[in-house]
Amino acid sequence: MLADGKSQPPKPSFVSRVLGVLIKAVVLIGFLFVFDKLLPSISEQTQSFVVAKWQQLSLLQQELPTENSLPSPLPEKNLTDTWGAARSQGRSHEGIDIFAERGTPIQSTTQGIVSKVGENNLGGRVVVVVGPGGAGHYYAHLEDYADIAPNDWVNQGDIIGYVGDSGNAKGTPPHVHYGIYINGSAVNPYPLLQKD
Ligand SMILES: [Zn+2]
Repeated sequence: MLADGKSQPPKPSFVSRVLGVLIKAVVLIGFLFVFDKLLPSISEQTQSFVVAKWQQLSLLQQELPTENSLPSPLPEKNLTDTWGAARSQGRSHEGIDIFAERGTPIQSTTQGIVSKVGENNLGGRVVVVVGPGGAGHYYAHLEDYADIAPNDWVNQGDIIGYVGDSGNAKGTPPHVHYGIYINGSAVNPYPLLQKD
């Protein structure tokens, strides 16, 4: 009872109270539905972003490849130091060529993050993996790619593609052109590869 004698506001009818509860329930269920649909994808994106950044940072903190430290992309195939050999249009050979039967699987010499799976004029079908110390590992003239995509993580020894003669190697004996780039400059991969 109110002291000043004013009449109480009319009690909401049973129907309007039920209606109010129903509306609140519908709004609540709507919110839950939206959060359920939205949040998992947001958290998955955040997680994969954080994982990728962590992988990049840990790669950058690792040592650059040292002499005789890297397994060959084509184990058991002959390694020859063809670095610096003359190439067309005054270019010099910025890598080494390792010959093998067409379709031979090419193994990543390092762990790292795939940064390119695609084509260019000279290299044809190429794969680039950014490995320890931020070095770029370039594999060219592929017949085909393995099932990889940019931003994928690869481990040392994982297959990244298959030997071919694509690009300016067309018609030459199938081989992989393997190059290493450190701070944007090509370095000779030959001394860094293990010889047995
Ligand atoms: Zn080459």
